[in-house]
Amino acid sequence: MTAERLQKLIAAAGIASRRAAERMIAEGRVTVDGEVVNVPGVRADPALQDIRVDGARLRKLGRPRRYVILNKPIGHLTTRSDPGRRSTVMDLLPHSFRSLVPVGRLDGNSSGLVLLTDDGELAQRVTHPRYRLPKTYYATVRGLPAEDVLERAQRGVRVDGEGLRLDHVEVIARFPHRAESKRRARLRVTLRGGRNREIRRVLSVLGHPVLELHRTRIGCLADTGLTPGGWRKLRGDELDELRDLIRRCAGETAAPAEPADPEPAAPSARPAAFVVAIDGPAGSGKTSVARAVAERFGFSYFNTGASVRAVALAAMRQDLDLDDGASLRTLAFRVILDPEGRVFLDGEDVSAAVRAPEVSAGASRVAVHPELREVLVERWRQFAAGGGVVEGRDIGTVVFPEAPVKVFLDARPEIRAQRRSSDEGDRDVGAVQSELNRRDHTDSGRAVAPLRRAEDAHHLDTSDLTLEETVERVAELVEAARSRALD
Ligand code: C5P
Repeated sequence: MTAERLQKLIAAAGIASRRAAERMIAEGRVTVDGEVVNVPGVRADPALQDIRVDGARLRKLGRPRRYVILNKPIGHLTTRSDPGRRSTVMDLLPHSFRSLVPVGRLDGNSSGLVLLTDDGELAQRVTHPRYRLPKTYYATVRGLPAEDVLERAQRGVRVDGEGLRLDHVEVIARFPHRAESKRRARLRVTLRGGRNREIRRVLSVLGHPVLELHRTRIGCLADTGLTPGGWRKLRGDELDELRDLIRRCAGETAAPAEPADPEPAAPSARPAAFVVAIDGPAGSGKTSVARAVAERFGFSYFNTGASVRAVALAAMRQDLDLDDGASLRTLAFRVILDPEGRVFLDGEDVSAAVRAPEVSAGASRVAVHPELREVLVERWRQFAAGGGVVEGRDIGTVVFPEAPVKVFLDARPEIRAQRRSSDEGDRDVGAVQSELNRRDHTDSGRAVAPLRRAEDAHHLDTSDLTLEETVERVAELVEAARSRALD
């Protein structure tokens, strides 16, 4: 092994993140061959030198640890080898990774994110319930689970003598059907422990067998951008962030005498996930472009405007005052966006109903209220915590200011009006244009989160571009950001 920077060696030994290791070095807690080294960046060779942290010898490192994430397709077992010679996750990796071990279990019938490593200590921390690292799953279940069923799942049930529970479960979409046997619901589940087949067993005993199960996140790691069967190595900063998160989740300090993290940010507030933020005025083509980009890359797609519209629809149906921010705020909790761009109000798919012109006008009126926006923004961050294409007015400026791809779509007003008019069955272009003008005026003039281009967003005027050309331009930006992220 050659000499490496001290902070890198300490991080690789699983003692602290690189940032925390730099602090430990600056505090004089690290020695090399008996001498205190308090300047981060000094290199040492653990094979030849005696490196100690707080007097304890750094574990001798053979080769550096390796970490891979993989999007497991259904049918592959999460194991290194199967006596029955069925396909395993190892079959999806190059031969040189055969020494890695899959972390935790994801059963053969489930798909999604699997971490593989030869770092046993990290593997233990990712899986052991003591460390409370959240993992996120999407499950399609039979039937439409009632609220009290979800509560029971979270309180805990006994299955085969074992106490099992889901840390959090919420319905993100309901698919009602006349025939009871065909009713389905889509759930988002968070687990911090993870006994064998826990989600399937809990939901099955509560009368809602799982038909499909996909894991999207392990702590801050997300499956975004990985096609089924695809894999990639983890980056150093992702690993640091994972280690930091494990420490925060377990409620322990990073290392002895490590100062507490001044801002223990909630995981949902700082997703490491890959977000493509698409903002712009009405009629600029956001929805068609966002959908097509999501489809091209296999990303989720969230339409935040649809949830503002659903709030307006709920308020109009109940005859509420569209200028009463406080009562509008509570409506936001009844609206759910799913990763296919649909919007649900109290479980009803209102994706088509919210497109009515009177709802459009109501939407920009309700959107000015800070009380409502506060709830909406938090919910948008949660919905898109696993990453994806997110369209709206303030995605690049407020909701995901750190999104690696930000696009501001625009087009000349008359072009936007023509497009909207043909979307709406050739409604009078003049009438459509004056509605758009009114909405643009309200959206750009409001005090909170007005429509404007984020400084680092790419401005794309789509007036003279076809949809395909626009999608191509955005796809290029996504490709470039992805290769930067993988560097
Ligand atoms: O995008 P769409 O036209 O469906 O949005 C409807 C309205 O919702 C917009 O005119 C705007 O007032 C509001 N909106 C918002 N912030 C978002 C998305 C939409 O204020 N992120």
